[in-house]
Amino acid sequence: MDLEFDRQHLWHPYTSMKEPLPVYPVKSASGVMIELEDGRQLIDGMSSWWAAIHGYNHPALNRAVTEQLGRMSHVMFGGLTHQPAIELGRLLIGLLPDPLDRVFFCDSGSVSVEVAIKMALQYWQAAGRPEKKRLLTVRSGYHGDTFMAMSVCDPVTGMHSLFSGAVPEQLFAEAPSCGFREPWREEAMSEMKQMLETHASTVAAVIIEPIVQGAGGMRFYNLVYLQRLRELCDEHEVLLIFDEIATGFGRTGRMFAMEYAGVTPDIVCLGKALTGGYMSLAATVASGHVADTISTGDPGVFMHGPTFMANPLACAAAVASLRLLLSSDWQSSVRRIEKQLAEELAPCTKLDGVRDVRVLGAIGVVELDCPVDMAKIQREFVERGVWVRPFGRLVYLMPPFIIGDGELARLTSAVCEVLEMSADGAPPNSDEAQR
Ligand SMILES: *Cc1c(COP(=O)(O)O)cnc(C)c1O
Repeated sequence: MDLEFDRQHLWHPYTSMKEPLPVYPVKSASGVMIELEDGRQLIDGMSSWWAAIHGYNHPALNRAVTEQLGRMSHVMFGGLTHQPAIELGRLLIGLLPDPLDRVFFCDSGSVSVEVAIKMALQYWQAAGRPEKKRLLTVRSGYHGDTFMAMSVCDPVTGMHSLFSGAVPEQLFAEAPSCGFREPWREEAMSEMKQMLETHASTVAAVIIEPIVQGAGGMRFYNLVYLQRLRELCDEHEVLLIFDEIATGFGRTGRMFAMEYAGVTPDIVCLGKALTGGYMSLAATVASGHVADTISTGDPGVFMHGPTFMANPLACAAAVASLRLLLSSDWQSSVRRIEKQLAEELAPCTKLDGVRDVRVLGAIGVVELDCPVDMAKIQREFVERGVWVRPFGRLVYLMPPFIIGDGELARLTSAVCEVLEMSADGAPPNSDEAQR
């Protein structure tokens, strides 16, 4: 592979084009293994950013995509429809709690967030309250990289200062401060409560990642927060949007993280694992009430329609992925992974420079005091035959659900070893915003 071409001409996520960090050329991937061009095999600890829950190159998903390819890879969704979209819509509605049954398919997670926000704004426009157009959210969130999605990401890690004046200014309450396994403290709600009381007349919606804040800090918070938030949103006539793009499809131990709280939002965003990591597809699912209100107001239609909306190949992959998930005992797999992650990452707690170790579902996080030296730590992991991609102060594992005990043990021991080494050796000291 021409790595020099890659270096000179291809942007990678959150990188410099002047001094890009090394990238590793991949030849193929199968099951939980990523094969590099030089033949080295890496155990995947990332599921390609929450997505590849069934592992790579899965025969059932390959078959679904190949069969769909033989019929058509794409047709426009304006004025046309197709079986993969209908089947996927049916499956999603069956999995989601009751009033969420109007599905908008879009291209990526960020776009599904844009769509959700646009729905909220059009909803209030149609309801005769056009002044309700701001968003309220919490710090440490992550909702994507397009401008409106960025506006509700954490203002610091989302680098709002860089785009000030261009990114809409939204309202931020403190990040949910009561942990997932801590006893509930009512004060954890106080700033959100007060902000809703003060600003409800101009706020269209609260948007939040339920239970797990992902790329904004990998924080797990108390389910009562969501219950209170639902009550407060109802009380103050503000819509509630859940971003389940990272948490959806089993990752936290429930099909959707909102199930922990038994709370239903007005709009939910889905993506990432939706296609089992096969291709880019996302969905924004609204309640009938939201959809009907938008559709009866002026202009009577929802103003969005991407070119590749409901791409049939992606929908076919998603249908196959969901069927595979539903026919498997994924709950036991996630519980098994959770238990093993908790046991085997626990020793990291004692290391110098480690602030916290936490596990929920198939997500294991080691939070450090300082950001890691990306290039160095990446090389250490690759040398140990694992693919682990930390960001900032977070080293984390979220393997495919099909991972075996032995493979998972290799991931956790690599994390412990590498962190032990950096605790003894040179201080990790790069603060690049690497993802
Ligand atoms: C990844 C992510 C997004 C953005 O999805 P993209 O497909 O990268 O645009 C939005 N919200 C959450 C919670 C995410 O984890």
